[in-house]
Amino acid sequence: MRTVYVNGVYLPEDQAQVSIFDRGFLFGDAVYEVTAVMNGKMVDFDAHMDRLERSMSELDMSNGYERKDLLAIHKALIERNDLEEGLVYLQVTRGVADRDFDFSGLDAPLGLVLFTQAKSLESNPLAARGQKIVLADDQRWGRADIKTVQLLYSSLMKTRAKKQGADDVWLCRDGKITEGSSNNAYIVSHNNEIITRELSTDILHGITRVSVLKIAEAHQLKIVERAFSVDELMSAKEAFSTSASGFVNPVVSVNGTAIGNGEPGEVTEALRASYVRESQAASI
Ligand code: PMP
Repeated sequence: MRTVYVNGVYLPEDQAQVSIFDRGFLFGDAVYEVTAVMNGKMVDFDAHMDRLERSMSELDMSNGYERKDLLAIHKALIERNDLEEGLVYLQVTRGVADRDFDFSGLDAPLGLVLFTQAKSLESNPLAARGQKIVLADDQRWGRADIKTVQLLYSSLMKTRAKKQGADDVWLCRDGKITEGSSNNAYIVSHNNEIITRELSTDILHGITRVSVLKIAEAHQLKIVERAFSVDELMSAKEAFSTSASGFVNPVVSVNGTAIGNGEPGEVTEALRASYVRESQAASI
């Protein structure tokens, strides 16, 4: 049984409890981070904590956490759960209060929950065979840049994708791809440009995105940060997604049509290999 962390205490998972009045539960008033663990060490911990601070500040959540304390909790959970490969999930909620839309004047302590989840990251079967993607309208709220736990739309669309025999969904706004259900989206053009939507409130600012774009630059690939259309996607040489728990994952078909030759692309595979090597080397 796992040991989890809830509001200051480490507990066996079946004894951990949160209040039914927690605003995370009642309003989705909570933010989260997911940090990958390889060989018992975390990838990009500081970048995840920087993004957590940004999410909290965008939602006017006062942040009383010290980064060194959050680091200690992450490390303690990895150790107590003997986690070699997988992820640490962290969630901060606005805390417990009587149900009220208006949270001004509320000074409840924030809620903090962390748990580990074992997962095979490096030898993910999707990396080898490539993902089948279906497209759906992006009907999420307009602040996709804040990492809130309001994931219902993405969850519905991913479930629908699975029912259709696909692996995941990419979302579209005005004929252009925004991002995947839980990943950033890219195409590789026929002249080897890496094209991915520019940062805005339309997408989550992926931590893996930053690392992979740096690696692409080191591979002498041209990076173009702009929205790409569904037509461009369908005729791209390669497509792939990035996320902390998926790393770099090739896309081999979209709505049943093969992308490129219908196999994981060579640029994608090179980026994945470099990402795995470099993030492992820099993990803490
Ligand atoms: N977009 C969305 C909507 C996500 O949920 C995620 C995963 N958290 C990402 C992109 C990728 O972000 P990261 O590389 O930081 O995991």
